[in-house]
Amino acid sequence: MDLRVSVQKRFGTFTIDTNFNVEGERIGLFGPSGSGKSTLVGLIAGLYHPDSGAVFLDDAEIFNSEKRVNVPVEHRRIGMVFQRPHLFPHLSVRGNLLYGYRRCEHKDRKIKLDSLVEVLQIGHLLHRGVRNLSGGEKQRVAIGRAVLSNPRLLVMDEPLSALDDSLKFQIIPFLKGACETFNIPYLFISHSLTEMRIMTDKVLRVVEGRVASQMSLEQLARAYMGESKAGYINLLKLRSLDRLGNLYVYDWGGQRLFISGGSDLPEAFFELPSTDIILFKRHPEAISARNLLQCRVTDIFETGHRLGVELECSGQRLVAEVVRQAVEELGITKENEVYAAIKATAFRRLG
Ligand code: ADP
Ligand code: MG
Repeated sequence: MDLRVSVQKRFGTFTIDTNFNVEGERIGLFGPSGSGKSTLVGLIAGLYHPDSGAVFLDDAEIFNSEKRVNVPVEHRRIGMVFQRPHLFPHLSVRGNLLYGYRRCEHKDRKIKLDSLVEVLQIGHLLHRGVRNLSGGEKQRVAIGRAVLSNPRLLVMDEPLSALDDSLKFQIIPFLKGACETFNIPYLFISHSLTEMRIMTDKVLRVVEGRVASQMSLEQLARAYMGESKAGYINLLKLRSLDRLGNLYVYDWGGQRLFISGGSDLPEAFFELPSTDIILFKRHPEAISARNLLQCRVTDIFETGHRLGVELECSGQRLVAEVVRQAVEELGITKENEVYAAIKATAFRRLG
């Protein structure tokens, strides 16, 4: 996707006035509530019309106030998924799914019902009404309906915000899976840093009605390091290997991690606060922490009053947060070898 936006729009006292270009397949829009994220994507999708400006999606000009170009919503082929599923209550699951498909032109009907149903695993729901579906099932149907409209861009406006944590992490693989399988680029809106890091490759930071900057996920995580008590949060995707008593054994790029509070799922995301990692200059004799990793220091960075030590452990990255005195006393510098100790209880499983 190649999106170029330069638009101005006044809504009473609130103004959208922004100018940005972005390329990529999985783009995040990140910003506080009320910063104008929903309004901005509404202007792109054609739900509202800018007072002035232009919008290009790939090689198509979909809006230009000077040239009086204004492609109608239904011809922009921008699918939308919202926080609430907004399904049609009088239609079955199948009817809801086919709604967008039937409205899209024959030549664009590349994604078919059968393959979509397989990816989203909703075959058993097809003939049900939508009133008695669970929250997670409803959201899967809403995603399916948007994907089946064969969009060239999918806009997801806080699609996970109304779901509790465990449901959220059940839905994420379907959301990502459908977009990856059918090659649909997306704009993903959220105010959750964790969701951003799981769902997107780069992020547009929205501040007071404009895109203030474009950031990599790493830049975003570091920028927020100073704002959270837990500091920088490491996000690890781990493959389950084994169980040892009350500990779970996970594979992390060829290394074994011992975690309490794992699960029997084959794969899971874990958060590990950078403040929960203790660094040793030499191999400690005996420690209670269940994980001791030999690492190389690849970077030392500062955000606010915090120091982050970026580590490489057998090809994986980790950030440990330590106070400046510790860095100085231990003489930690780039390229040093250090040992990182992590307690089995320091990992928090997501979902
Ligand atoms: P976000 O999605 O980032 O939470 P919104 O885009 O929903 O933010 O809202 C940004 C601001 O725009 C809010 O102050 C809201 O009141 C205002 N706004 C959005 N749409 C309209 C509208 N149709 N009429 C008046 N004000 C609006
Ligand atoms: Mg919003």
